[in-house]
Amino acid sequence: ALHILKTEKQQALALADAITKLKSTVRQCRQCHNLSETDLCSICTDTRRDKSIICVVEQFKDLIALEKTGLCKWLYHVLGGRIAPLEGIEPQDLTIDHLISRIRSEKVSEVVMATNPTVEGDGTALYISSLIKPLGVKVTRLARGLPGGSQIEFASGAILTDAILGRNPLE
Ligand code: ZN
Repeated sequence: ALHILKTEKQQALALADAITKLKSTVRQCRQCHNLSETDLCSICTDTRRDKSIICVVEQFKDLIALEKTGLCKWLYHVLGGRIAPLEGIEPQDLTIDHLISRIRSEKVSEVVMATNPTVEGDGTALYISSLIKPLGVKVTRLARGLPGGSQIEFASGAILTDAILGRNPLE
């Protein structure tokens, strides 16, 4: 706010205009909940991707970090957070129902759980895995190159690369 007070009126108005535009053009992808300016995001409409693999992340910024490795030729599903009962965040507050209906209606062969390696991230992965397994779909988890308690968005490219390549079945 201080920065805006110090800037020229013209600049401040331009900034306000840009924010308004952003708010009205950016929305959630209908399929994966990635941020998008269109109904379906550029990842969901990318024909070179393996549509049989869905990678589940907590937030948009995790998707960005994974995409930067250049290794992920799969689709995503953005949960919009993680299950955190102490903060009042329950499964129904996330996009888990939509994920399950995607898995039911599409030919999915693997779901990669890429929630953060924290207590809540692990708990969320286990909860979702328990819903997916009865559907006969393989569930994997990013390998433990990721230190426990760390955040995917801050992980280095090298650590993420190890984690993606070495993902394990989630028991
Ligand atoms: Zn999408």
